Amino acid sequence: MPDAGIVIVGAGHAGFQAAASLRQHGYDGHITLVGDEPGLPYQRPPLSKDYLDGKIGLDLLLMRSEAFYRDHRIDYLPGTTVADIDRAGRSVRLASGERLPYGHLVLATGARNRVPPLPGVELDGVCYLRTLADTDALRDRLAAAERIVVIGAGFIGLEFAAVARAHGKHVFIVELTDRVMGRVASVPTSHFFADAHRRTGVEFGFGAQVVRIAGHGDKVDHVELAGGERLAADLVLISVGVVPNGELASAAGLAVANGIVVDRELLTADPNISAIGDCAAFPCAHADGQPTRLEAVQNAADHARCVADRIAGKPHPYAALPWFWSEQGPLRLQIAGLTTGHDHTVLRGDPESGEFSVFCYKGGALLGIESVNRPADHAHARRLLAGGRQVTPDQAADADFDLRAAATARPALPGAS
Ligand SMILES: Cc1cc2nc3c(=O)[nH]c(=O)nc-3n(C[C@H](O)[C@H](O)[C@H](O)COP(=O)(O)OP(=O)(O)OC[C@H]3O[C@@H](n4cnc5c(N)ncnc54)[C@H](O)[C@@H]3O)c2cc1C
Repeated sequence: MPDAGIVIVGAGHAGFQAAASLRQHGYDGHITLVGDEPGLPYQRPPLSKDYLDGKIGLDLLLMRSEAFYRDHRIDYLPGTTVADIDRAGRSVRLASGERLPYGHLVLATGARNRVPPLPGVELDGVCYLRTLADTDALRDRLAAAERIVVIGAGFIGLEFAAVARAHGKHVFIVELTDRVMGRVASVPTSHFFADAHRRTGVEFGFGAQVVRIAGHGDKVDHVELAGGERLAADLVLISVGVVPNGELASAAGLAVANGIVVDRELLTADPNISAIGDCAAFPCAHADGQPTRLEAVQNAADHARCVADRIAGKPHPYAALPWFWSEQGPLRLQIAGLTTGHDHTVLRGDPESGEFSVFCYKGGALLGIESVNRPADHAHARRLLAGGRQVTPDQAADADFDLRAAATARPALPGAS
């Protein structure tokens, strides 16, 4: 690797892990980690869970203390935006005008909240949940709020709703589709979570379209649905997904299609530029090689390790099994594999007990497993799927079937480990 070293743009999970893994894998050159947020790199998952709830403080949010960056010779530049990339000159230009040369550039620019084109999104009291700054502002507003409308019933909307209900707030969730977590979870899991939230007092409007957010003066007052219904609100959380930050890459002439397009080794068409984490669209080994963009800590961290391996001289195609988790009140959902497009589900355990797994099949092949408060099932599921092993629907449904033994059996597929 040339002396100019590695420049990493974005200091979220992926950027931080890339810097840490490069050192761990013996890379000795210059590492510059550039992040546009202030402060030290931090973890996002607790933002909608324990940090929002006030159960943990900033200290437990941070990836590492300041000393880590010094000790590992990682030149961390907080509050610093990369404005553009000069591919021919192999340098990036900062918003300040300063140029940083690179031998290899890692784009770990993540994603930002999707802002729906609705009248009223600018009103005071309309909030988002992506960054630490968002969450600090939201925490203060949550304390003062009485009636909350959440737009979007994905992971973040539901996690926020669980915290808000625990604080005694009235919560109404508006969802365009007919179920919660429809993009990522099976129907049985969706129904279980919607029922669980209802039991705590959360109200839902499914198949409901917001047409505007209305204010009283500059403050939010209510949310209006397509049918004319008005939902009173002094706080509105918009959680309708994210947009990948691909502008730096596209301005530099790199392909962007729902994320920065990379190959199996997470390289863009420019051999000196990689893209990782939420911003990257990669050919996923667990989705028949289809271009895939994932929003998960596992994906961000494993992408980073894969690129660090390559830069340290041990290139390999990215093949890690995707997995996810969500915590909604006392319920922990863990998903192993990608279940999109499944055509059949099998229950293991009884949802009534609050602990069960859903095995998702397509054409008889096991795609993924969702586990609710069954961490052992999730651990076995990860081994099972990473090793290319299968269990039949009958085996999955049989409570006496030994999932652990199946997960640790000799690999069933050639080349699986
Ligand atoms: C509230 C919340 C809860 C979550 N909970 C979970 C969970 O329970 N489980 C799970 O697996 N995942 C969860 N996620 C998703 C997970 O946090 C993300 O997948 C992960 O953070 C992605 O990491 P990343 O580094 O790719 O992107 P990001 O974390 O988005 O980091 C990218 C960074 O790059 C910065 N940046 C962008 N452009 C520039 C530029 N030009 N110059 C400098 N800096 C730039 C951005 O501001 C940002 O700080 C959650 C996300 C949120 C928001």
